[in-house]
Amino acid sequence: MTTKSKKVLISGAGVAGLALAHWLDRGGFNVTVVERAPAVRHGGYAVDFRGEALDVLDRMDLLERIRALDTEMGEAAMVDAEGRQYATLPAAVFAGDLEVPKADLTRLLHAAARDSAEYLFGDSISGVEQDADGVNVAFESGLSRRFDLLIGADGLHSRVRSLTFGPEERFVRPLGICTAIFSLPNHLGLHHTGQLYVSPGKAANMFAGDSAGRARAALHLAVEDLEYDRDDTDAQRRLIAERFDGEGWEIPRLLTEMRAAEDFWFDTNAQVIMDTWSDGRVVLLGDAGYCAAPTSGRGTSQALIGAYVLAGELARPDSDHTTAFTAYETTMRPFVTEHQAVGREGAERFFLPAPSQEVLDMLAANAPENTRTEAVRLPDYAPR
Ligand SMILES: Cc1cc2nc3c(=O)[nH]c(=O)nc-3n(C[C@H](O)[C@H](O)[C@H](O)COP(=O)(O)OP(=O)(O)OC[C@H]3O[C@@H](n4cnc5c(N)ncnc54)[C@H](O)[C@@H]3O)c2cc1C
Repeated sequence: MTTKSKKVLISGAGVAGLALAHWLDRGGFNVTVVERAPAVRHGGYAVDFRGEALDVLDRMDLLERIRALDTEMGEAAMVDAEGRQYATLPAAVFAGDLEVPKADLTRLLHAAARDSAEYLFGDSISGVEQDADGVNVAFESGLSRRFDLLIGADGLHSRVRSLTFGPEERFVRPLGICTAIFSLPNHLGLHHTGQLYVSPGKAANMFAGDSAGRARAALHLAVEDLEYDRDDTDAQRRLIAERFDGEGWEIPRLLTEMRAAEDFWFDTNAQVIMDTWSDGRVVLLGDAGYCAAPTSGRGTSQALIGAYVLAGELARPDSDHTTAFTAYETTMRPFVTEHQAVGREGAERFFLPAPSQEVLDMLAANAPENTRTEAVRLPDYAPR
C-alpha cells in the first residue's frame, strides 16, 4: 500500500494534531482530523517556543509569521500585597526564545493545515477496535469508519489514550498545582510586561502584550488530591474565589473578572508518564502521550517536534508503522525525559514565597541553557 492510500485519523486539532496533519499531507497520507470543539480552540494563554521547535516552524514556512506575533515580553515585576515591586523577573524565565498567544498559533497552524485534511468538528471518537490490517473507529455522532492508523493528539485528557491504553489515573501524574486562566481588560496598562504575586500556596499574575489589547490573568493554587468535575466551571470558579478570598494586590479585581470571564479555563498541572506511546496501529502525540506540564514551558515545542518526527518516520519509503513508531519514540524519549524533569523542578519552586532578586537572577541565568537541549537532533526529513 502506498502512503497515498493510507488513511490516518488524528484525534485533536490542537498544536500537535494540526502540525501533524500538515506533515502527513506533505508525506502523501490521506488525513482526517476529529476535534471535540466546534472549531479550532483559541486558548487564552501564551505559549513559548524553545530550541528545535523554531527549526520545525521554519521548515513549515511559519517562523516569520510566528515571529511577527511575538508578545515581546520584557521583564516583569514581582509585587507584594500592596502592589509594591520588590524584585524583577527577567523575561528569559517565562517567555522562552519566542512567545505568542496560543490562539494565534493554532489559527496559523490551522491555516497551514486547512487543506491538508478532512476536519470533523464537534465530534469525538467513542470506540476503537483494531486488527492486523486497520482500526475501526466509532464516533459519538454515530459515524463509524475504518482507518489504517489512529493518532491521539487529544491533549492531557486524551480519549484515544483511555480507550486504547487504560484509565487516565494510570498515566496522569498531578504536580500539586491547579490553575485558572482568563482574559480581562488591561486595567493596569501593562505593555509587554506583567506583574506576579505570590503568597503561601497561592500565586497569581497578569500579563499583557500591547497595552491596547486585553490582558490575561492566571490564578494558581497548591492542591493535594484535588477531585473536581472537569465540566463544572461554576464549581471551579467557586474553588478559586474561596481560596483567594482576602488576598491583596489586584486579587479582588481579578476574582470579579474571573466570575464573568467567557474564556475561563481551569485544570490541574500534570504530566503524562507512559512506558510506550504506541499500541499496534494507535500512537500518541504531544500532551496525550507525554505532557511535560505547563511548568516546563516545553509542551508546545514537544508537540511540534513530535509531529514532525512522527510524520517523517511514517513517510519513510522503507518503513512500516511499527518501525516508524519505534523510531519516533527512540528520537523523542530523551527529549521528553529532560522536559519532564524541568516541569517537575518548576512545580517544586512554583510557590516559592517572595523569591529574592538573587534567586530570580539565578533562574534567568539558567534559562538559556535550558532552552536548547542536547538530547534531540532533528532528523532531516524535510528541507528547511
Ligand atoms: C496554562 C498553560 C500554560 C502553558 N504555557 C506553555 C508555554 O509557555 N510554553 C509551552 O511550550 N507550552 C505551554 N503550555 C502547554 C501547551 O499548551 C501544550 O503542551 C501544547 O498545547 C500541547 O499541544 P497538544 O496538541 O498536545 O494538546 P492541546 O493543545 O491541548 O490540544 C488537544 C486538542 O484535542 C482536543 N480534544 C480533547 N479531547 C478530545 C476528544 N475526545 N476528541 C477530539 N478532540 C479532543 C482539544 O479540544 C484540543 O483542541 C501551557 C499549557 C497550559 C495549560
